[in-house]
Amino acid sequence: MSDCIFCKIIKGEIPSTNVYQDEHVTAFRDINPAAPTHILIVPNKHIESVNFVIPDDEALIGKLFAVAKQLAEKEGVSESGYRLVVNTGAEAGQTVFHLHMHLLGGRPMRALG
Ligand code: AMP
Repeated sequence: MSDCIFCKIIKGEIPSTNVYQDEHVTAFRDINPAAPTHILIVPNKHIESVNFVIPDDEALIGKLFAVAKQLAEKEGVSESGYRLVVNTGAEAGQTVFHLHMHLLGGRPMRALG
């Protein structure tokens, strides 16, 4: 989508610190990190949120987890632990409406509330 900030990052139209990219998935460091490791893993296809996932996207969504596992190992947080978060909708705190998975690690996490 032309006015989507994550689509622009995926296309290299605005700067980002990319840590992974292939034909389906891009991952880059969050501009406002909430933990020592804070990476956003996004499908290259514009999907507004989990609410817009269709059956054809299932392999793509699975790939987000495969990339998360790989990046957690690379960041050295696989053993200590990490959190994968997908905010969906305004009340959950979604601010960018291009589906993304947060990979957070490198510090103890509080219980969900
Ligand atoms: P959410 O609140 O789940 O929609 O997460 C959106 C995330 O995108 C936030 O953690 C922001 O800090 C992050 N973000 C927004 N713009 C950028 C950007 N240009 N580069 C990297 N991360 C960004």
